[in-house]
Amino acid sequence: MDKSHIRNFSIIAHIDHGKSTLADRMLEITGVIDKRNSHDQMLDDMDLERERGITIKASTVRLPYTGKDGKEYIFNLIDTPGHVDFTYEVSKSLAACEGAILVVDAGQGIEAQTVANYYLAMENNLAVIPLINKIDLNTVDIPRTKNQIISVLGYKDEEILLASAKEGIGIKEIFEEVIRVIPAPPGVIGNPLKALIFDCRFDPYRGVVVFVRVVDGKIDSGSQIIMMHSGKIYKLEEIGVFNLKYSKVDVLTCGEVGYFIANIRDPREIIIGDTITDIKNPCAAPLPGYRTLKPLVFCGIYPVNPGDFTNLREAMDKLKLSDASFQFEPENSQSFGSGFRCGFLGLLHMEIVQERLEREYDLNLILTVPNVVYRVKKKDGEVIDIDTPAKFPASDIAESFEPYVSLLTIIPVESIEAVCEFVKSRRGTFHSTEYLGIDRVKLVFNIPLSEIIVDFYDRIKSLTKGYGSLDYEFKDYVQTQLVKLDIMLNGVVCDAFSTLICKEKVYHKAHALVKKLKELIPRQLYEISIQATVGSQILASEKVRPMGKNVTSRCSGGDITRKRKLWENQKKGRKRLKQVGKIEIPQEAFLEVLKL
Ligand code: GDP
Ligand code: MG
Repeated sequence: MDKSHIRNFSIIAHIDHGKSTLADRMLEITGVIDKRNSHDQMLDDMDLERERGITIKASTVRLPYTGKDGKEYIFNLIDTPGHVDFTYEVSKSLAACEGAILVVDAGQGIEAQTVANYYLAMENNLAVIPLINKIDLNTVDIPRTKNQIISVLGYKDEEILLASAKEGIGIKEIFEEVIRVIPAPPGVIGNPLKALIFDCRFDPYRGVVVFVRVVDGKIDSGSQIIMMHSGKIYKLEEIGVFNLKYSKVDVLTCGEVGYFIANIRDPREIIIGDTITDIKNPCAAPLPGYRTLKPLVFCGIYPVNPGDFTNLREAMDKLKLSDASFQFEPENSQSFGSGFRCGFLGLLHMEIVQERLEREYDLNLILTVPNVVYRVKKKDGEVIDIDTPAKFPASDIAESFEPYVSLLTIIPVESIEAVCEFVKSRRGTFHSTEYLGIDRVKLVFNIPLSEIIVDFYDRIKSLTKGYGSLDYEFKDYVQTQLVKLDIMLNGVVCDAFSTLICKEKVYHKAHALVKKLKELIPRQLYEISIQATVGSQILASEKVRPMGKNVTSRCSGGDITRKRKLWENQKKGRKRLKQVGKIEIPQEAFLEVLKL
C-alpha cells in the first residue's frame, strides 16, 4: 500500500455529540456496510454499549474511499469513547493516528470533554478538523457554536465544517478535508519493522488478537517477531485488517493499522504500548509506548460464592486485556474471604467493569466501598500509599495527604452561584473563570478527588438543568486530617464497611452509615448493636431489635407441612444474606452504603 494514500484518524468529542453516528455514515458511504443491513452506532458492538447508548471501547475500522482527485485512499478510523473515565482509551487511539475530527454538537456547543479531548489531540501533535454536527436540528444556533470554536479553540471560520451525521449531510466534505489536512503517515518502508501495539482482544477460538500500527518497515504473514519490552518471541499465524470483521492480508506495510494472531493463549503476555520488531532484523529502539495510568479509585471485589475465586481471577485477566487501565491484586477480607483489590479510573469505569465481569463471565460479585489512594507519612519518616482502609496504620502517623484534582466545568451562566455553592460544600476552592460567548462559562476548581467520585456529576447535571459538563485531572497530594471510620456489629469490626475519610466529615458520615445499616439489616434472633467508631471512640450507634418469636410460632396449631414451607422460605431468603460473624447482612446493604 502506498502510504501517501493512507490517513489514520480518530473521531473525538464530548459524549453524545454524535461520534458513533458519524462513524455509521462513514461506514455506509464507503460501502463497508450496507444501509439495509445496518443498525445505529455499528461500532458499539458490546451489549453494554448498546444498552447504555455509550461507547466504552474504542473500535477500529478500515474505509476505502475514492477521492475527488480520483485516487483510491484508505482511511483507518478509530472510534473513541467520550466519558472522562475512558480518556485512556482516547489517548491510546490517538497515538495510532495522525489526525482527529473534533465533533461539536451544534445545540450543546463546546463542553468539558470537547476541550479536554482537543488538548489531548494537541499533545499527540495531531491535525484536528473541527466539525459542527446536528445542523439538521432547526432549534440550533450554528453561528453561536461557531463563535465558541473560534474563540475557545482558535480556529478560523472557514476551517470549521458543518454536518448532520444523522441525515448524512456533509460526510464527503469531511473525507476531502481529511485528505487535505491530515498528513499521510510518516515512516520508511525500507527500515526494520517497528510497530506499536495499541489494543487487543481475546477471541475464545483464536486466542489473543493484537492490534498494531506499523510505524516503520512491514509485517509479513508467517514471519517471526519479538515484543521489545516483554522480550517474547512469536511466529505470526495470521495478519489482517479490520472490515468490521477480521480480514486476512499477506502484508501490513508502514502507516497501516491491522492485527495479528500468534497462538497467544495467555492475555497477560501482552503489554499495550509495547513495540514489535523483526527477530532477524530488529529496529534499534522501541517506541515510547504509553505512560501507565495510575488508577484513581479502588475497591474490593469478591465473589458471592467463594468457590468462584479462580473463575474471577481468569475473568479479570481476560478483561484486563481489553482494558489496560483496570488493575487488580489478590486480597483477603475478614468479611468476604478471598477476593481482589481493584483499581479504576473512576466510578463509571468501576461500574462498567463490574457489569462486564458479571455478564460476560457469569459471576455474582460484591463490591466494597470505593476509596481514593491516600498517602501517609509515618513518624519514622516512611511514606506509604494507602489504597485500602486495611493498610491504614493505627498509630504513629505524622502527616496524611489526599489527592486533589483540577476540576473543569462548563455551565450556563445562570447556574454559577448554585454550582459554586455545591462545590464549596464538597471542600472545593475556586481557581479561575472564563466566559465562552455570552451564555456559557468555564469554571476551574481545586477539589479533593474523594469528593467527586460519588454522586458528583449527577448533582452538577441537575443543578444546571442538564447543560453542565465536567472534566478533571489529578493535580497533587495535599495535607489533610485523615481518619479510619469502622463499623462494629456487636463489637466486631466488619471490614467491608471501613472507610478512610477526612476528619471534618467523619461525624456526618458516621451517623448516615449507622442509620442506613439499621434500615438494611433485618431483625435477627438476638439484638444487633451497630456502632461507628474511630479508634476507640464511638461516634454513632443504633440497635436492631431482636425478632420477637420464631416465625413458625405464627402458625397456630401444628400443621407440619405449613411449618416446613415457612422454614424452606426462610432458608431461601438466607442465600441472599452474607454471614459476617454471627450476623447476616443482605447483599443490598453493601451496595446501598456505596451510594451514601
Ligand atoms: P457519541 O456519544 O458521540 O458516540 O454520540 P452518538 O453517535 O451515540 O449520538 C448521540 C445521539 O445524538 C443519538 O441519539 C444520535 O441519534 C443523535 N445524533 C447524532 N448525530 C446527529 C445529527 O446529526 N442530528 C441529530 N438530530 N441527531 C444526531
Ligand atoms: Mg459513541
